[in-house]
Amino acid sequence: MVSVKRLFEIKEEIDNGTSKLTEEQWMVLCEEQEGVRFCDECGELMADGYVWGDGEHIECESCKNKTTTPESYETAYHNGEVYWTQWEEEM
Ligand SMILES: [Zn+2]
Repeated sequence: MVSVKRLFEIKEEIDNGTSKLTEEQWMVLCEEQEGVRFCDECGELMADGYVWGDGEHIECESCKNKTTTPESYETAYHNGEVYWTQWEEEM
């Protein structure tokens, strides 16, 4: 099992062309790791993020800031429509 930290490092290596892994191989590793998700908006890898409804939509901090205002987020949060979470890393 590849650690969450290592997944982020590999992504950086892929982006600057120094990784031996392809993006597809990296995606498979990400899917095996319970501690990460992909943002539904921008596709970024994330170890924590915002979950809407029963998990039908998850997004990262910067997408949450784009798709909702602080006021509407507050309202949604109080109505139990959204929460922030950090996915547990599987050791
Ligand atoms: Zn995002």
